[in-house]
Amino acid sequence: MILIEKTLDKIDPKLVKKRILATPPPPTSMLHRAILLNVAVQPIYNHVFMSMPVHKDRVQHIFDEIFSLLWTRRKDGITIFKRKVVAKNRIFAGYEAGGLNIRSPTTTIKGFQQNLIQKILKNPDREMSQVLAAILVKIRRPTLQQHIDLLGPQQWVKSSEKIKSYSLILSQAFSSVAEHLQMFECDTALWGHAPIYGHSEAAGMCEFSIEDFRKLLEKGITVISQLFQRDQLTGAIAKPARLSDEIIRKLGLYPQICFKLKILVKKFSDLIKYDTRVGLPSALQQMMSRNRNMSQQYTKACKKMAANNIGTAPAYNTRIRDRIDVPSRDEFKSAFFMVKHKYLPLKTKDNSLQTLNRTIWTNNKAFKSGLRENDQCRFCGETENMEHMYYLCQNYSNLQWELFASAVTVVVKKANPGASNIYITFRNIIFNTPIKNLFHYVKDKEVNI
Ligand SMILES: [Zn+2]
Repeated sequence: MILIEKTLDKIDPKLVKKRILATPPPPTSMLHRAILLNVAVQPIYNHVFMSMPVHKDRVQHIFDEIFSLLWTRRKDGITIFKRKVVAKNRIFAGYEAGGLNIRSPTTTIKGFQQNLIQKILKNPDREMSQVLAAILVKIRRPTLQQHIDLLGPQQWVKSSEKIKSYSLILSQAFSSVAEHLQMFECDTALWGHAPIYGHSEAAGMCEFSIEDFRKLLEKGITVISQLFQRDQLTGAIAKPARLSDEIIRKLGLYPQICFKLKILVKKFSDLIKYDTRVGLPSALQQMMSRNRNMSQQYTKACKKMAANNIGTAPAYNTRIRDRIDVPSRDEFKSAFFMVKHKYLPLKTKDNSLQTLNRTIWTNNKAFKSGLRENDQCRFCGETENMEHMYYLCQNYSNLQWELFASAVTVVVKKANPGASNIYITFRNIIFNTPIKNLFHYVKDKEVNI
């Protein structure tokens, strides 16, 4: 622990921030800084996280310091704090969920820790593999292979606790695997392959003892998908969910275990619609044996979970609340694809991102924050909100778009005399939807998003 503290001390977050701000050209937009955080800052720390145990609070502190870079500006050698336009817990979410797609340092660390377990499993002759095997014997816990094939997160946590006094890095690795396992348990594709013993749902009335586990193992009952009664013709899980007759027969002498299993199967009534193959191998066994690192699979699983939890970016619902016209949810999500467009300048992308998220600064916002005496548009005197500024102002933006559309029409008609007039709507302006007819006439790939 002392070693990691010293190593981390040598990487001064303030210095890292300075280095980022000095990159030519200096990152002025939020999006540019978010991208630099992923590609330039995180790799500085990765080598530390890969090989040493990590203290959660310490990491949090370092990254809070570095991520504050998103909301500051340097002017004449002085740091100026700007508005935070993305909530702290959202910066790790994808753009389409209103986030900044920044790689979460804790996800990265936990991924590395799982890679260690994967490496140990694949190379039993490594020194670390032998160290772990010896620790597991000493603390009287199952072998690593048995953990992977047969044990759920609660049991991995139990091992993690016991390993702690022998090796902090291995203890943290076990705890990270436990977290990933917990995600499998409610994953629509993998839930049926989650082990029964140590399952997060196998608690309270249906907590299994080590003796129960031994009996189940003896009968070859190890993962959740084996428990359900299935339709004899289709093989699908019968509804409502109930314990299979075969298991009841197999465990005839152990009514207590049957009782616990009956309670357990009821807890999956929501998941049974995602049917799953019966039996082995366990979800973790499948993941560990793939050619992809556990860290990649973990990052993907975390993103999927975050997307499910957040859904659409909050600016979609606040528009509905404020009675502002919106496209369909899918169209709204597609609007964020512009971030991946290779011909658009970063500043334009940043602007569009802030537009979609409704974080553009307006006179209305300035007035509400007490920074302006009124909320009026300087061209017409109406309230200047984002919609007004972008396309509703009859004295300014609306005229500009009309002028632009007629200029584009002239250009298009030059090459295609039969072409119809080009109109630009608020959906084109705000939500990046394609301008009707334009792509029919203009084929340059630079304009096609
Ligand atoms: Zn106006």
